[in-house]
Amino acid sequence: MPSFSIHTLGCRANQADSEQLAQILLGAGFQEVAFGQPADCQIVNTCTVTREADRKSAQMVRRAARLGEQVVVTGCGAAQKGGTWQRVPSTALRLPPDQRDQILEKIGARHCPSGERLERGWLRRDRARALLRIQEGCDQFCTFCIVPYVRGRARSQTREWVLQNVLELGASEVVLSGIHLSAWGRERGEDLADLVEYLLQETRDIRFRLSSVEPDLFPERMFELMGDPRLCPHLHLVLQHASDRILERMHRGYDLAHYDGLVQKLRQVPGASLTTDLMVGFPGETDQDFETMMGYVRRTPFARIHVFPYSQRPGTAAARFPAQVDEAILQARRDRLLRLAQRKQVAFQRENLGTVREALIESESERQGWMKATSDNFLPLLLRGGPAMRGLRLRCRLKRRWGEQIVAVPEEGF
Ligand code: SF4
Repeated sequence: MPSFSIHTLGCRANQADSEQLAQILLGAGFQEVAFGQPADCQIVNTCTVTREADRKSAQMVRRAARLGEQVVVTGCGAAQKGGTWQRVPSTALRLPPDQRDQILEKIGARHCPSGERLERGWLRRDRARALLRIQEGCDQFCTFCIVPYVRGRARSQTREWVLQNVLELGASEVVLSGIHLSAWGRERGEDLADLVEYLLQETRDIRFRLSSVEPDLFPERMFELMGDPRLCPHLHLVLQHASDRILERMHRGYDLAHYDGLVQKLRQVPGASLTTDLMVGFPGETDQDFETMMGYVRRTPFARIHVFPYSQRPGTAAARFPAQVDEAILQARRDRLLRLAQRKQVAFQRENLGTVREALIESESERQGWMKATSDNFLPLLLRGGPAMRGLRLRCRLKRRWGEQIVAVPEEGF
């Protein structure tokens, strides 16, 4: 049986693409092996969002080339002319993200057992949680971001396509993802709340979660839909910065007041959690801008924050901005923000102790006899049990913190 492995760098959108590639290959009779093991086809799903991500992507492609005879490079690195692509072995095959459904053709028929190819390739691989890419590209052109240049204009799948794929995935939880997910349906005069409402109406036992969303086009009707227990009360609402001056220079398309308005509405949803991305060291960021960001983080109940140091991307507008922030200042700001983010994360976990949440049981923990789960409001949980519980959704009481996780106990009746 031919084999493949996938290594994924970068965001949820890339993870969703890797999931789809795996489904197609599994459907064609391939066997998946862990990355690092020899395999007939080694896939590296690259990310170019920062210079460091670009460097790591090229490094993983070179590692993959040592492990298998065929290497496929996909993700943003495969969509770019320069960057990662210039630094990979010449034998690597390029698979731009919008051509991922052509993976079988790309790697050639020699690995595909005849008669076993599937047209769409959506097989059940992970009945606990599946990521589904429903939107591609971006029209926002944030000044630090290379994505619109490598992923093209915003476009989205139709609601019928999404429903069909949700049903075929057969997962307990489906995470809807996209490059600019809030822009879903815009080209047809629809919005993301229309889609979620439709999915909740047309499905029965599936729980939905939104992947990362941008504040500018986020439909406020979504907060009403969060009254349905099948829509997770969790938003990864990307902020990037809390200084309006910096948000404008980033060309983000909203100000802090708009962002905070969404946060206040989310806080009306019982138990809801808020996570975000923040960037430090954007060109021209002053001490005052940074303190504005720290102040906003202190007074806002973020459950988790991903902190990104600004990284200059050739080809973006911000790379040409004056007043690039000194590396030592950038690192010091990043460290301060990381420490605050850690305190916020622990505070949110503590607040949730004693509450009852719906947990999705996902995989075996490294701790013998325990399973890893995720609550509807995105807390990492540990429950006693074994692999037979995978994919179950249970009401659980959150008992105590154990390292980075929370020990949860199913409520009576289970
Ligand atoms: S919204 Fe901004 S950061 Fe996000 S993909 Fe589009 S341009 Fe990049």
